[in-house]
Amino acid sequence: MMRRLMIAMMLAALAAPATAQETGFSPAIEAAIEAVNPRLIAWRRDIHQNPELGNRETRTAALVARHLRALRFDEVRTGVAHTGVVGILRGGQPGPVIALRADMDALPVTEEVDVPFRSRVRTQYNGEEVGVMHACGHDAHTAILMAAAEVLAQRRSEIAGTIMFIFQPAEEGAPDGEEGGAELMLKEGLFRDMRPEAVFGLHVGNQEGGRIFVGEGGMMASADAWRIVVRGRQTHASRPHQGIDPITIAAQITQALQLIPSRQINAVDTPVIISVGRVRGGVRNNIIPDSIELWGTLRTLNADARTDAMARIRRTAEEIAQASGATAELTWDPGNYPVLVNESAATARGTAAIRRALGAELVQPGRPIMGAEDFSFFANEVPGFYFWLGVNAPGVADAASNHSPRFYVHEPALENGLRAMLAVALDRVSPSAFAASETTESAR
Ligand SMILES: [Zn+2]
Ligand SMILES: [Zn+2]
Repeated sequence: MMRRLMIAMMLAALAAPATAQETGFSPAIEAAIEAVNPRLIAWRRDIHQNPELGNRETRTAALVARHLRALRFDEVRTGVAHTGVVGILRGGQPGPVIALRADMDALPVTEEVDVPFRSRVRTQYNGEEVGVMHACGHDAHTAILMAAAEVLAQRRSEIAGTIMFIFQPAEEGAPDGEEGGAELMLKEGLFRDMRPEAVFGLHVGNQEGGRIFVGEGGMMASADAWRIVVRGRQTHASRPHQGIDPITIAAQITQALQLIPSRQINAVDTPVIISVGRVRGGVRNNIIPDSIELWGTLRTLNADARTDAMARIRRTAEEIAQASGATAELTWDPGNYPVLVNESAATARGTAAIRRALGAELVQPGRPIMGAEDFSFFANEVPGFYFWLGVNAPGVADAASNHSPRFYVHEPALENGLRAMLAVALDRVSPSAFAASETTESAR
């Protein structure tokens, strides 16, 4: 019975039209994925249980470096931008340089997910004791890239080109007073001697498990943190005319900032969000203080809108203050992120490769979000393609989002993240690694 079924399947395969395209990779790659997948999960659990904040990822970095050295990478650099690890894998044949990136840092969040490998880690963060959790899923990113390193290292003789593996620290931002993340890696010269023709990265999120979400252009927002100090003149609250009240001025500025996106900028072309997240000033009910501080964030999806909105925020604050005889001083924080732009050719090519690896039905259009991601620094240097991997459990539609203490990763979804990373890489350096590729078919 079994034999008859197999013969029937073979006949069916022979009868298939020459343009038919199979999904997946060559048998050797498929076997390597199957072999590494249990360890991908084990690494993810280990990293999850031992999360580390940005610029403090020493244990995670050591785990990664040990793994890359065991795989006999040509180069393993550690201590990049404090705690980053960069591995270089040269293939057996000449070809392009590409870069694959994962982030390693966790967040100051106390985990509420009830799994055996839940984090109980506590540490100091900006002078406060906090719980630490991989609430953004960077544990999954690191484990996926470690697994990709293993599969690609095993096939290195067939690889035509060089793959740079970037395990970066501090994607969520460095602690106060420190530099970090992608920006610092580049500043230290990451792409100076070896410039990839493209850079790829992924992020897990609370979408349907195992699906990949892709889009071109501005996909994640620029994030600029600002502070405005409104200086008036202190007076008794019963005699406001004898002073300059910075509280009412700060309130006018807060309101007027909302008129920038809604009344000054084309809302259809240019999504812009300005939010005030912190206000500080004053000591008691009947004293009008000298000054008030406002802290906020600006988010945009293109670089021109970013520059334009920054100028409008300054003008709005300064001129409203001036109208009442006060001053407003605006400062932009260091460590801000540019817009994450998916370059169109890299996106088209990467999307096609992921479709071949996973099947077109698992690859869906993704929508831009106003969250920020420092992969944008890499993608500003060389063509970048960044995509999302859904990690919801089956049947769960309203899972907690990234940064929640209840953020949950359905582990079986991670294999598709590995497949997608392998797809974008192999497409550049070993196209024959795909199952029944189009070129093979048409060459027949
Ligand atoms: Zn995050
Ligand atoms: Zn993240």
